[in-house]
Amino acid sequence: MLIGVPKEIKNHEYRVGLTPVSVREITTHGHKVIIETGAGDGIGCSDADYIAAGAEIIGTASEIFATAEMVVKVKEPQKVEYEQLRDGQLLFTYLHLAPDADQTAGLVKSGVTAIAYETVTDRNGGLPLLAPMSEVAGRMAPQVGAAALQKANGGRGMLLGGVPGVAPAKVVVIGGGVVGTNAARIAAGMGADVTILDRNIKRLTYLDDLFGPRIKTQYATIDDTEALVYEADMVVGAVLIPGAAAPKLIHRDQLSKMKPGSVIVDVAIDQGGCFETSKATTHADPTYIVDDVVHYCVANMPGAVARTSTFALNNATLPFTLALANKGWKKACQDDPHLAAGLNVHAGQVTYQAVADALGYKH
Ligand code: NAD
Repeated sequence: MLIGVPKEIKNHEYRVGLTPVSVREITTHGHKVIIETGAGDGIGCSDADYIAAGAEIIGTASEIFATAEMVVKVKEPQKVEYEQLRDGQLLFTYLHLAPDADQTAGLVKSGVTAIAYETVTDRNGGLPLLAPMSEVAGRMAPQVGAAALQKANGGRGMLLGGVPGVAPAKVVVIGGGVVGTNAARIAAGMGADVTILDRNIKRLTYLDDLFGPRIKTQYATIDDTEALVYEADMVVGAVLIPGAAAPKLIHRDQLSKMKPGSVIVDVAIDQGGCFETSKATTHADPTYIVDDVVHYCVANMPGAVARTSTFALNNATLPFTLALANKGWKKACQDDPHLAAGLNVHAGQVTYQAVADALGYKH
């Protein structure tokens, strides 16, 4: 199969659909890979790296859209991209169609077969192509929160791990899923005093087994959530209710009860955030202060570490990319219902129930 990778064009997107490592795997299976020149620049992979891995470098994205049988990307296609997709072509990337009527209409019109990373499932009911980005965002949270705790950034002027004779900072992680577990791991590694709150007892048991006495767990009642947040130096918001906006767990009037200079890292901001005062920020201007509490609310945290994120994403997508290339999308989806769950658009139809319902298409 001829697989094409255009350079990402969304604002400040540095990731790329395939790494040279993936290209080598794919070409070893007898497929041909074409990469737009400079596509890997943002992650430190040059055209020469791709050529060494067996790819051919192409001058423009339009040549890739015109010839590739499968297009592999990271972000949803932008208008200029989906206008070039065509009937019978396969697109494998993040799509997030439900809130994006224009893109959905563009994909439907193009006749493309579009498989979305974010709706591919696994046998445990997880979302294996979303999980790597949650791991990245979770591990970043204490890192960005630690910087925000510094005086010059509006924070309390505290070191996360303290020093001998001075207590460490108290970090409270609300939601012990993928983001929360990774945030807790790094915060504990930096020496902080960490508590994870969740409403799922099984998850708390798992976390207790995983971390032992190094991390405290607490069932997330309203009372305990409030009490721990008021005492915290840093709070990481990491809750998710699948398919719904994040629940608001701390309201505007409660914020002033938090310690002055404490820090909120609301990772759940891409679902609206779990603090009433959270509003999405960008890497260019990531924080703002309300009631002396520093808010970090960047909606695409993994973009800041594009290299790590791209490699993590490729580790998860590669087996699916190979299956699609080796078998064609129909057979690959017949053989693997979890990959089939990724099918969002095919031959002018929206094929994913939730997207069809959200945007009024027939399913
Ligand atoms: P997950 O499903 O693995 O974990 C969510 C956890 O929240 C679950 O364990 C659930 O039991 C818990 N929860 C739900 N309601 C709760 C409540 N009221 N109190 C306490 N816990 C509660 O999800 P995840 O992959 O960890 O993602 C968490 C959030 O981070 C999502 O909104 C996701 O979209 C977001 N995210 C953001 C970025 C970013 O760049 N900002 C990147 C990746 C993920």
